[in-house]
Amino acid sequence: MSRVYNFSAGPAVLPEDVLAECANEMLDYRGCGMSVMEMSHRSAMYQQIIDEAEADLRSLMGIPSNYKVLFLQGGASQQFSAIPLNLCALPGATGKADYILTGMWAKKAYQEAARFIDAEAVASSADKTFSYIPNCSDLPIRDDADYVYICENNTIYGTVYHELPNTKGKLLVSDVSSMFLSQPHEVEKYGVIYGGVQKNVGPAGLVISVIREDLIPEGPVDGCPTMLNWRTQADAGSMYNTPNCWAIYVCGKVFKWLAAQGGLAAMREYNVAKAKLLYDFLDESKLFHGTVVPEDRSLMNVPFVTGDADLDAEFVRDSKAAGLENLKGHRSVGGMRASIYNAMPIEGVQALVDFMKDFEARH
Ligand SMILES: *Cc1c(COP(=O)(O)O)cnc(C)c1O
Repeated sequence: MSRVYNFSAGPAVLPEDVLAECANEMLDYRGCGMSVMEMSHRSAMYQQIIDEAEADLRSLMGIPSNYKVLFLQGGASQQFSAIPLNLCALPGATGKADYILTGMWAKKAYQEAARFIDAEAVASSADKTFSYIPNCSDLPIRDDADYVYICENNTIYGTVYHELPNTKGKLLVSDVSSMFLSQPHEVEKYGVIYGGVQKNVGPAGLVISVIREDLIPEGPVDGCPTMLNWRTQADAGSMYNTPNCWAIYVCGKVFKWLAAQGGLAAMREYNVAKAKLLYDFLDESKLFHGTVVPEDRSLMNVPFVTGDADLDAEFVRDSKAAGLENLKGHRSVGGMRASIYNAMPIEGVQALVDFMKDFEARH
């Protein structure tokens, strides 16, 4: 067996120990004679898997008891619709929400919300290809906005909010897909904090939404499909219908793996060390350049270019041959992108930097 260093933005690298454990349990999960994939989601065995996953996530993130944890399908993209449909149906809601546009995912969420509510873009970094986070200390947030929406780590452009925006007392909703569990979050600062797990936590097809209890509608909402109403899933323990049983199981293992690494504060420290290795090299290199302003650099997604499209293509091809996979940048930025999520070992980042040094010496 030979595994590569996989820098994919998502689905992405998972901890080897977790994959090995899944492989071990594949045919016969703990003596029950079947795989988790073959198990009824209504069985006691499965109930234990999802309960344990939730309990472990709560303890990892320090989720207060007045927040619900929902394991949902439809990916992060489906929450783009669920968020306005639920939050703007609460008693006293005005149906207005303010969005900060820092990249493609924030823009998609904004465009989707605008189909249902009065969504407004109160800041944007589109003028410089989303290479920075706008100053969010005094935005024109509407007095009657129901919430303020951000995409906290921008997977494609490689920026992150190092400080949360001043929402002027409004509810904060954050998409943390590509930084999920890479560092601690103060959950109580958010109304909703959610992420698709396939970037940093698990297999594709599962989104975890952590939602303050009073933001979940009391019952059915006109114009909101049953499946998108958070109440439906909250009342059914995320099992109104068949959930993504396999992804929840794998995530549960990743939660235990993260706890064994020392938890989210320790992960942050490790991720800072990994990112520093790469950014320090980018800052001293004469050939490679990071595309993001230094103060807003993501710890997870690192886009860089040589400035020459042919050379970039050569780099992507040669790095693949050297066992460094998926370094091609997103088509909207070009160049390269290294996603260095939780499960990417520092040895992988070192191997990338060594390869870049060698490539630079040859050109
Ligand atoms: C990948 C990504 C999404 C979309 O996730 P899906 O689960 O594919 O819908 C949304 N937001 C961010 C920040 C992402 O990185």
